[in-house]
Amino acid sequence: MRFKPKPLKSDVKFKCKFCVDCCRGRFIYLTLYDIKRIAEHGHDPQDFVLFTAENGKIRFVLAYREWDLGCVFHDPETGKCRIHDYNPLVCRIYPFMVSHRPLGVEREEPFEYKGKKLWLYYDESCPGIGEGKEIITREEIAELGLNFKEEFDKTDLDGLSKILDEAKK
Ligand code: SF4
Ligand code: SF4
Repeated sequence: MRFKPKPLKSDVKFKCKFCVDCCRGRFIYLTLYDIKRIAEHGHDPQDFVLFTAENGKIRFVLAYREWDLGCVFHDPETGKCRIHDYNPLVCRIYPFMVSHRPLGVEREEPFEYKGKKLWLYYDESCPGIGEGKEIITREEIAELGLNFKEEFDKTDLDGLSKILDEAKK
């Protein structure tokens, strides 16, 4: 599923409908924090980490199934995430997105948070937006976005090697 960004201009109601569209057909970037946490729960990084190159840098993404491009942790029987309690930061942020520059979407505007200018979006393809009673605030989303960026910036091949060495002990 492709993220269709719409500017997030206010706090919003959200309730996941478990349609699981977001767990198929998209790159889920992993930080070392994510990889370590998932590995600590007994999963071998060699089974769930794929490599991709972007702007001359190695990036890590979640492995996916060949037959439906679904994430390897998505359970096709129940439609649920098998690692829900320790899933990657990107999955925690979805159906929202935090960008450090504008994407060029109509009516977007910066959101100031902790001295930073951020651009917040939601995915208009997600049927859970505007549903349920729980209100998600823009501050919560911005905080998750900053957390992700901090971890993503620290993520490199050396760090992954250390995690793999630890897993062998
Ligand atoms: S697309 Fe939205 S409603 Fe569907 S599983 Fe993902 S977060 Fe939940
Ligand atoms: S880790 Fe879980 S929430 Fe994230 S894409 Fe995979 S199945 Fe979906």
